[in-house]
Amino acid sequence: MERLLEECRPAAGQGKVADYIPELSKGDPEALGIYVIGSEGKRSWAGDCRQVFTIQSVVKPILLLQALMDNGAEFVMSRVGVEATGKPFDAINFSDQSLDSGNINPMVNMGAIVMCSLIHGRSYDERFQRLLELTRRLAGGEIGVDQAVYRSEKSHGSKNRALAYLLKSNGLLDGDVEEVLDCYFRACSIQVDCRALAHIGAVLSNRGRLPASNERIFPAAMSRYVNAILMTCGMYDGSGEFALRVGVPAKSGVGGGIMAVVPTRMGIGIFGPALDRKGNSVAGIRLLERLSAELHLSIF
Ligand code: GLN
Repeated sequence: MERLLEECRPAAGQGKVADYIPELSKGDPEALGIYVIGSEGKRSWAGDCRQVFTIQSVVKPILLLQALMDNGAEFVMSRVGVEATGKPFDAINFSDQSLDSGNINPMVNMGAIVMCSLIHGRSYDERFQRLLELTRRLAGGEIGVDQAVYRSEKSHGSKNRALAYLLKSNGLLDGDVEEVLDCYFRACSIQVDCRALAHIGAVLSNRGRLPASNERIFPAAMSRYVNAILMTCGMYDGSGEFALRVGVPAKSGVGGGIMAVVPTRMGIGIFGPALDRKGNSVAGIRLLERLSAELHLSIF
């Protein structure tokens, strides 16, 4: 893994660290780390895998899981569809002046904002705390929230506000828009490292059970729901190419993280903050491609 990682590190030169909010532009473009957790609990790692970064869109499958656990699949599906949009993650995705729930999915911003509104709780703070607790259990350890990134997301979040108000005006979002958005911004600012992402991936690969202890966190049917959407929509409008090059369900985030799920075999956490134009880690995808070829990880 160390050899593959060093071979892939120069690919970061083709990418750019996210700068849509000032806080994220401070990332080291050369960083690259990987952590792997097998379904029996075996661990391996290489590179900058101890660096802490914000989860960003890798929280989307966890938002979906919490919404599924609170409401069931039928209700969630009635509120947000499952088809790939083929558009960037923050696209304003409607035509003919009509925004339809079938045109969005939980892995793009609009769908994830709706997921925040579906989580149960008396207040939005309680909803976020429940999400944070689920993230902790899935990540297998303590995690915090990056307050500077949260403030930056909130004060530079005009595009996400536009998306949320569009949802609201089309009757697709219940609740107070600013409160729902606050939950979304906090969710994006949860701090993780490669190990945490690998652990979350391992639970999804293990059909809802923790690696090693086998304790069940969510029903197997929910891992099928989440993994299927990760396969078709997890890398946004780069999902098709990722399916060809790597061939496993995965989710990327603009913090540089990728969580990959190799069903029944392993979870993989990647950190590489230099992103391609679609917002996915360049060196991270290259590393997953090489690892997939060597270990025959593609599910196809
Ligand atoms: N915080 C980012 C946003 O909402 C998350 C997007 C991402 O990671 N692709 O725009």
